[in-house]
Amino acid sequence: MEKDSRELDARYYMPAFSRTIKIVRGAGSRVWDDRGQEYIDCVGGIAVCSTGHCHPKVVRAICDQAKQLIHCSNLYYVPNQAELAERLVEITGLAKVFFSNSGAEANEGAIKLARIRTGRKKFVAFTHGFHGRTCGSLAITHKPAIREPFEPLSPPCTFVDYGDLDALAEAVDGDTAGVFVESIQGEAGVLIPPDDFLQGIREICDDSGALMIVDEVQTGMGRTGRWFAFQHTGVTPDIVTIAKGLASGFPIGALVAREGLEFRKGEHGSTFAGGPVACAAGLATIGVIEEVLPDVSRKGELFMKGLALHTPRGRGLMIGISVGDRCSEVQQTCAENGVLVNCAADGNLRLIPPLVITDEEIETAVGVINAALG
Ligand code: PLP
Repeated sequence: MEKDSRELDARYYMPAFSRTIKIVRGAGSRVWDDRGQEYIDCVGGIAVCSTGHCHPKVVRAICDQAKQLIHCSNLYYVPNQAELAERLVEITGLAKVFFSNSGAEANEGAIKLARIRTGRKKFVAFTHGFHGRTCGSLAITHKPAIREPFEPLSPPCTFVDYGDLDALAEAVDGDTAGVFVESIQGEAGVLIPPDDFLQGIREICDDSGALMIVDEVQTGMGRTGRWFAFQHTGVTPDIVTIAKGLASGFPIGALVAREGLEFRKGEHGSTFAGGPVACAAGLATIGVIEEVLPDVSRKGELFMKGLALHTPRGRGLMIGISVGDRCSEVQQTCAENGVLVNCAADGNLRLIPPLVITDEEIETAVGVINAALG
């Protein structure tokens, strides 16, 4: 008889997450749990399942590559790696890539690259910002509840209010290696900064010699209706970090830097990063996103119009609604009615569905969410 995995989880897995549903299958924007309940997935693995669940082109690319070569080490040229790097350069408009296995690790790489190329030590980041859970990425993550228990952390980081360019200009000095910013803050609950914010950061970085590092781990790969959210602003960062939607759920991250900014021999490395299967999944994912990207903003509008009574905010398929204390109750009611949504920080309901979600699925999801919000 099959063991009860909830019981096994309670006994053997560290209780760092609180969870009730066990998802066992996915296709497109739908998932099914172990009790046979079907859901429209407006969480999408937290903005990871960009092409939906088990997109046939991604599955084929992973299987074909797995039959050929799963791993060989970065000691050798890795199949698909340079090809994926080329695609990332094309879609970011930057110059050179280094792969990682996650978003946090991409940010770790960006911290190292900024430090070694500027010769400076400190960073500036923003209130409510989230950049990951490893020690370096946590040091630049604002939320005290998750950061402070692990202090002292490195690198030294000053936090200024998200959107406040005067405070930023004051905080950045001759020892600032870089400014880390999310184009839209995701974990904070989809917070959109003022229109001139990224442009202002660019100017402050140019004046001070600090690098502008845009964390597109959540907002990237077509999520907001462009490949990257910074592309809505006309600003070009020095470094962009990517992960989540890059390979449809196969773990991979990347940092992409402008011309002249690169690691030299021996300065960085990773055993698994940029492996053949991850890169095959990334290449296939980019191909699929290319097909659906022109429709992302329109689909986002469908959500926004449908949820208008609750004052949603967002860009493309990244939408937040301030719900307050009722957020987890709303999340549960939606799940009971076949729609997965997620509560980000501070009672903000967050919708980050697969980019392939259909108009009919949006209509159904909007009906369920509106009913749950009351
Ligand atoms: N940066 C941002 C903006 C994120 O939203 C996240 C994860 O939610 C991370 C970094 C960390 O990514 P990972 O969980 O892959 O380490």
